[in-house]
Amino acid sequence: MSKTCSVLVVGAGVTGLAAAALLAKCGHAGRLQITVIDAAPRPVFDPAADVALRVSAIALGSVGLLDAIGAWRQVLETRAGPYESMRVWDESIEPDSHGALQFDAAEFAVPQLGFIVENVLIQHALLAVLDKLDVELRFNTPVDRFDADLVIGADGARSFVREHYGIEAREFPYGQTAVVTHLRPEQPHRRAALQRFTQQGPLGLLPLADGRVSAVWSVADKLAARAQEASDTELGEMLTEASDFALGRLEVAGPRGAFPLCARHAAHYVMPGLALIGDAAHAVHPLAGQGANLGLQDAAQLAEVVDAALGAGEFPGDRRVLRRYERARKGENATMLHFMTGLNRLFATDSALVRELRVHGMRLFNHSGPIRSHAVRVALGVGR
Ligand SMILES: Cc1cc2nc3c(=O)[nH]c(=O)nc-3n(C[C@H](O)[C@H](O)[C@H](O)COP(=O)(O)OP(=O)(O)OC[C@H]3O[C@@H](n4cnc5c(N)ncnc54)[C@H](O)[C@@H]3O)c2cc1C
Repeated sequence: MSKTCSVLVVGAGVTGLAAAALLAKCGHAGRLQITVIDAAPRPVFDPAADVALRVSAIALGSVGLLDAIGAWRQVLETRAGPYESMRVWDESIEPDSHGALQFDAAEFAVPQLGFIVENVLIQHALLAVLDKLDVELRFNTPVDRFDADLVIGADGARSFVREHYGIEAREFPYGQTAVVTHLRPEQPHRRAALQRFTQQGPLGLLPLADGRVSAVWSVADKLAARAQEASDTELGEMLTEASDFALGRLEVAGPRGAFPLCARHAAHYVMPGLALIGDAAHAVHPLAGQGANLGLQDAAQLAEVVDAALGAGEFPGDRRVLRRYERARKGENATMLHFMTGLNRLFATDSALVRELRVHGMRLFNHSGPIRSHAVRVALGVGR
């Protein structure tokens, strides 16, 4: 059968690779000629090396998607740290008090809420799948031509593709930078993902399979710069303080990095012959660990729309077709983006009244039955 539609995926991050694999495995894949290009070298995963700095909390919905692609088994067999509970609390209360939000896998009848996985391991597993499929992969290749029937812009938050097509992105700068490192806690993490909100910003502690935790501390740029310059001992003390000793003393035990934070949302995701997915379309605050999960859902939705269009004899690059993808994803991504931005602001305020409302609100939420369980199902990516 002759190929009827050329697809160029720009960006071999988790989102772009997942989109390429889903398209290459869809019912009408025989009609697609798929190329993936990335400006960077092919990512290399070394199982003998230390856990990489960049890890993501992968929700159950994304696990299902990676499993359907055929990439999850390799991730799981290599190294993935399950998390079985989640605890979120405000600095004005104790982590184990009634006011803290607490979710356990058991109450949702699942063995775990998700997994903490290195981004590079997910890319590695997706590439292993793609190597066996009819997809051309080109690394060390910055995009310079857009001559495909369908271009998929998956080139991250500062998307060149988005700019090239003249699509504006609204920016919501946080004035915060995420300081990221691995820590060895004095007390076992018991497979719990922790998030403490302080006026300085949220501190997330994600449990790694080897007993360490990955810290994501989103604070004002100035404080982040101080944290970057601090010695390991000083940084350990800063993070111990910020965590309020929830896991006892924290010792820096890994590399560190800093990621300036800015929420961005593309004015539209599609144009004739173009679809933006992942961070190229929307970048959200890392406080709820949703960015990669949203990108994977974009990839799945776009692949579904393209497959259905081919089945119906439509041209996948038509704006009318691509709008189906945009309609399905843009509202949901906007909700998450604004919710994260609002939450970050709500917790950063030092008004005593707002603080009281916040703690009271969390307590109410804890007892809200269906609302609470709906919110958790959305966070797990297992239904709305
Ligand atoms: C501190 C921090 C913690 C986070 N934690 C979580 C978490 O726990 N859970 C979660 O779900 N998300 C998390 N995220 C968000 C998540 O990392 C991103 O949403 C996700 O990596 C975006 O993937 P992507 O494939 O869309 O883009 P990217 O990963 O940015 O990939 C873009 C790719 O495009 C390539 N590229 C760029 N420009 C060009 C060009 N001109 N030509 C060709 N190629 C190009 C790049 O080389 C890159 O490979 C976190 C983010 C941060 C900053």
